[in-house]
Amino acid sequence: MTATAPILLTPGPLTTSAGTRQAMMVDWGSWDERFNQLTASVCEQLLAILNASDSHDCVPLQGSGTFAVEAAIGTLVPRDGKVLVLINGAYGKRLARICDVLGRDFSTFETAEDEPTAAADVDRLLHADPAITHVALIHCETSTGILNPLPQIADVVKNHGKRLIIDAMSSFGALAIDARKVPFDALIAASGKCLEGVPGMGFVFANKQALAVAQGNCHSLAMDLFDQHSYMAKTGQWRFTPPTHVVAALHEALVQYQEEGGLPARHQRYARNCQALLDGMAELGLRSFLPAAIQAPIIVTFHAPQDPRYQFKDFYERVKAKGFILYPGKLTQVETFRVGCIGHVDAPGMRAAVKAIAEVLQAMHVLDV
Ligand SMILES: *Cc1c(COP(=O)(O)O)cnc(C)c1O
Repeated sequence: MTATAPILLTPGPLTTSAGTRQAMMVDWGSWDERFNQLTASVCEQLLAILNASDSHDCVPLQGSGTFAVEAAIGTLVPRDGKVLVLINGAYGKRLARICDVLGRDFSTFETAEDEPTAAADVDRLLHADPAITHVALIHCETSTGILNPLPQIADVVKNHGKRLIIDAMSSFGALAIDARKVPFDALIAASGKCLEGVPGMGFVFANKQALAVAQGNCHSLAMDLFDQHSYMAKTGQWRFTPPTHVVAALHEALVQYQEEGGLPARHQRYARNCQALLDGMAELGLRSFLPAAIQAPIIVTFHAPQDPRYQFKDFYERVKAKGFILYPGKLTQVETFRVGCIGHVDAPGMRAAVKAIAEVLQAMHVLDV
């Protein structure tokens, strides 16, 4: 893979290919028929990744991923609904915060940051509180890289006749989710994560029946996915100014996604990236925070070196000077840093990053290797 400096080893924005960036060199008009075809083609391809073409509508929305999450909750949870929010990290906490700000009743269930939510707990909580109408969870909690057991939780939610909202922002496109087997009302993702587009739009896969009865739920004009979808279904156009360059880049990124071999190939490349990273860092004596069994091949949290000469800012700047952007940790209890495995990067790229980290830690006199 052709390297572009610096390589972003972060959970988005992330490194894109030259071809994807090149696709942004056209100024599309929002009335241009060909641009509207780009949007329609993007939505069709996205639905196909989930096997959701018959069951769900793809509703794209301007903004970062959180905008789409907020729009999904605002549109699909009725004002008298109640959401059970499953939390084991910062993005789960954000779901609860969204419910709070939108004035939707909610309760939370929180486990430790290295403990996946157990389906049995969801079962118990749904038995205990019949007022709950929706369950919301994070598939891969990007604040650590932990994977939550989505299919098991989805079964429990379905057995209780409740509805599921999934933030699959950092996993969609790389970890398989089959809408024919995993029932959900909404699954949310964005352009600038595992699809390797540029950031700027999110999309919500909304169950067709659930969306059809969602008129008037939303607290907001711009975030109303019912309106966004009806307008697009009627006109083929975005309701307000579309992120034209972002759509064009995502269209090109999807061409490359298919050329690479679709989801299985994307998953394998990220899994190889993750393994190369874990192996290389273990050789340096740097321990990952999560056990392998619950580590998604998306982003890895490492314990910071136990050495007073280690400071994240200094470490970050020095690694950046060598062409790699790392990410700070997001844990409250332990000092950590994170390295992403996603984006237009492969295993040799990850090994080059590990080499840069080794050189930096040596120069900081943190490592004796
Ligand atoms: C990236 C991400 C989001 C969205 O974050 P934005 O900064 O709004 O793009 C939401 N949930 C998860 C799990 C994510 O990884």
